[in-house]
Formats: sequence, structure tokens, C-alpha cells
Amino acid sequence: MKSIRESLADDLVIGDGGYLIELERRGYVDSGSGREQVGTGRGSGQFTPEVAIEHPDALRELHREFLNAGSHVLQALTFFGTREKLGRAGYGAQTEEINFAAVKLAKEVAGESALVAGSVSRTQLVEREGMGSLTTARDHIAEQIRLLKAAGVDFLILETFFHLAEMKVALEAAAESGLPAVATMSFRPLVTQCSDGHTLAQCAQAMADLGAIAVGANCEQDPARMLPLLREMRDATHVAIAAQPAAFRTTDECHSFTRLPAFPDDLETIQISRGEFMEFGRVARNEGIRYVGGCCGCNAAYIRSLAYGVAANA
Ligand SMILES: [Zn+2]
Repeated sequence: MKSIRESLADDLVIGDGGYLIELERRGYVDSGSGREQVGTGRGSGQFTPEVAIEHPDALRELHREFLNAGSHVLQALTFFGTREKLGRAGYGAQTEEINFAAVKLAKEVAGESALVAGSVSRTQLVEREGMGSLTTARDHIAEQIRLLKAAGVDFLILETFFHLAEMKVALEAAAESGLPAVATMSFRPLVTQCSDGHTLAQCAQAMADLGAIAVGANCEQDPARMLPLLREMRDATHVAIAAQPAAFRTTDECHSFTRLPAFPDDLETIQISRGEFMEFGRVARNEGIRYVGGCCGCNAAYIRSLAYGVAANA
């Protein structure tokens, strides 16, 4: 099978969709909203990936659905899988077990039909405790990357980082592992800058300089809202552009669905149609985007539409 570098060089790569929100809707992932105000930075902020060990069949099925819908890459559900975040949700002691189980499931479904990416996200330490926690965050991320490498992922997707500073330490840890890394940041509340004040162009350049094989954005915005920021990143760098938008509509005042009152319990009221992902697939190639998938709210129906759109413009 072609490596991720070869795949990106050859053609547009179709990723998969969002696991945690979909599995939360199916009753297998805890949003935390029954106990705490999710997103305040004070509670556990749940949405952790223990489903990999508690309900492996549910996760296996969702991987199968994405593969069947046209994904070239399956992401192991290791999002929010650092010991820090898992520990806050009561699963710290299972950090190894959860990361290994998630990769094993994704590899089992992918077989020789798809690449398997290890998903690595921000720790939430920086947003909770500030930049003084960056060294600790780095240690946690580096630990998870070592686990993902040992478990046998093909490459890494560093995603949903709000602060460029934390993305940079994650990219350094990725480089030490020797695994190729796709790096995408998430922008909120507006798409004009990241949480530590850097422009989109600065983010794209910094990620490329630290060795990312593709850079871009994921989560928080629907495809149409994300497109202008992707263009800014594309114009600032020569590496491939990656995009995994959310399937939720945002507003002109707030470009991030996790900051809207609908998150996390009324997301159905802001769900966009799969047609918008088909349209995104159609424009992606012309826009120079090389890796397209979806994030929160994007299930297999959306990936199938995205793949149709990409094929329509082949
Ligand atoms: Zn997301």
C-alpha cells in the first residue's frame, strides 16, 4: 500500500469522519454534560475514547462504515487519549490499554484497504493552566506518540490544537518519533487567528517548518466557513493542505460550534446537510486541498457524499 506521503503526492486523499460525537449519539461515548458544563475548562470535559475498550464492537462498526463510504485513511480513536485527559475522566490507568486497543481495531478494519493514522489532540492543559504547562503537555503528547508508534500506526494526525505553541511541541515530539505528521489546528471563536494570537499564515508556516507533511484546519467550522481560512494557509506555504471540517453551522458572530449553546446536547439543531460536504469535495481539488475528511457531526453518509464530490471533479 502507498504511504501517506506517496498518497498525498499522487492524488487527493479522503479521510474519515468524526468518531466521538457520532459514538456519543449512538450511546457509547460520554459527553460529560449530565454532570458538568462541558467546555468551561473546570470539569473533566469528557468526550474521551474509552469506547475502544468498553464497546469495541461499536467502534469497529463505525470504522467499517467509513471504509465502506470511501475513506482512504482510518483514524484510530485516540483523540483526547493522553494520560492527562484520560486521567481527568477517570481512565488514566488505562492509557496504554485504550491507545493500543484503538489502534488495533482500526488496523483490523483497515487491513490492506486503508492507512491507519494515530489521532493526537491538544491536552487541554494549556487552555486550563496557561503556557506554564507547556512542558508537561509536551511530555504527555510525547508519551502518547510513543504508544501510537509502538501500536503500529502509519502516520499521525495532530488535530484540534487551539494554541500554536502546543502544536509546535507536538510536532517536535512527532519528529522525534520519525512518523510523518499531518497537522491541523482549530480556530475559535473566530477564524481570524489561533488562541495564542497567530495568523493563519503564521500557523501554516510554523507547522510546515516543523516538518508537517500537510497543514490545515479541522473541527469547529462547516466546510463553507472553513474554506477562506484554508486559502490563507495554502497561500502561505508549499506543503499540502488538509481539511476536516465539522458538519455544524456556525454564525457570523461565532465561528465555532463548540461555543454555541447547541453544544453538546442540541447539535441536531445546527447540523448541515451532507450536500455541503459533496460541494466541498467538488471544490477541494481546484482549491489545492490534498487531504479532505470530516470532524464532529460527519458520519459515513457525509464521507460518502464527500467522496462523490471529489470523484465528480477528478
Ligand atoms: Zn471535531
